[in-house]
Amino acid sequence: MAMPFEFATAARILFGEGKVREVPAAAATMGRRALVVTGASPERAAPLVAGLEAAGVACLPWPVAGEPTVETVRRGNEYARAERCDLVIAIGGGSAIDAGKALAVMLANPGEPLDYLEVIGRGQPLKQASAPFIAIPTTSGTGSEVTRNAVLASPQHRVKASLRASSMLPKLAVVDPELTLGLPRAVTASTGLDALTQLIEPYVGLRSNPMTDLFCMEGIRRAAGALPRVWEDGGDRQARADMSWASLAGGLALANAGLGAVHGFAAPLGGMFPAPHGAICAALLPHVMEINIQALRARAPASPALGRYAEVARLLTGRSQATAEDSVRWTAEICKRLEIPPLRAYGVAEADIPTLVEKAAQASSMKGNPIELTPEELRQIVERG
Ligand SMILES: [Zn+2]
Repeated sequence: MAMPFEFATAARILFGEGKVREVPAAAATMGRRALVVTGASPERAAPLVAGLEAAGVACLPWPVAGEPTVETVRRGNEYARAERCDLVIAIGGGSAIDAGKALAVMLANPGEPLDYLEVIGRGQPLKQASAPFIAIPTTSGTGSEVTRNAVLASPQHRVKASLRASSMLPKLAVVDPELTLGLPRAVTASTGLDALTQLIEPYVGLRSNPMTDLFCMEGIRRAAGALPRVWEDGGDRQARADMSWASLAGGLALANAGLGAVHGFAAPLGGMFPAPHGAICAALLPHVMEINIQALRARAPASPALGRYAEVARLLTGRSQATAEDSVRWTAEICKRLEIPPLRAYGVAEADIPTLVEKAAQASSMKGNPIELTPEELRQIVERG
């Protein structure tokens, strides 16, 4: 065994088509009054809400439009307390899951989000265990259903910061591929490439471990086969199921082995520009891989990360002779095929690069990158992104 490691995840994971219908019975064992956090279209949660009410769980709806902010959570927390909620259920994309996760932990702890937020807040420990939380992703995805942090934006500080505690791991994660069948194409593409990023970064990163490696290798192989298929036909159930599994596998990996430079940039970019997290990661992925491999060849030719990039290439292409550089070619090609917009489509300009490079260099995800990148290399990544 290479190194000691810790592995933690949701208390229980249900995976498969139709599994969402098992939520009401499970929820009834956890609480009586559920704050139901959804994305901007709460009507999609109607069947779930009907099931919950029938199981004796009162539902208090809390729709969240866009990525959650400190203010979203502060107001939601006031509402949940006033309504005496004892359980939080989130059904939606990564934004709804993160909002729900934050609301569940705030329900059990006094004060407001800024008391506990990293970087921009007071960073106090969340001493009380989170209220019971059920996470039901409808994209694939962020893997947020199996991570222990919630990312909140602070428009006033122009950054994103996390609430983080082991107790924030959901009590139940329900990954039901049927929920992703109607996802719009652009969301399928950006969230799917975020899932792929979250499989590649932990695998090549400094904190990889034998257990997360298993999830990464299998996830990368599945995602490689399924990404072109969900793009061509959003109703392809086998491909949707493969992407749901890949997304879950990425969440399991990143929560226990960290990420890398793509996510190091995603934090400041997401804080400064109105771009969805998945779209940012997709735009950066091939460029980070290319610069990482170049830097490794130049400064750390004996690094095991180079062999890992070659393994990524074999998993992506299915060719046993594939080289590390083939992983870059494959990824660039899929981004083109899935019509991933460049960063400038979100207003990122030349003048923003110095600030972005400075902030990214300090991001926690950057510490997991297989090699420390120079400011010049970081600049090249954003320029190409
Ligand atoms: Zn991500």
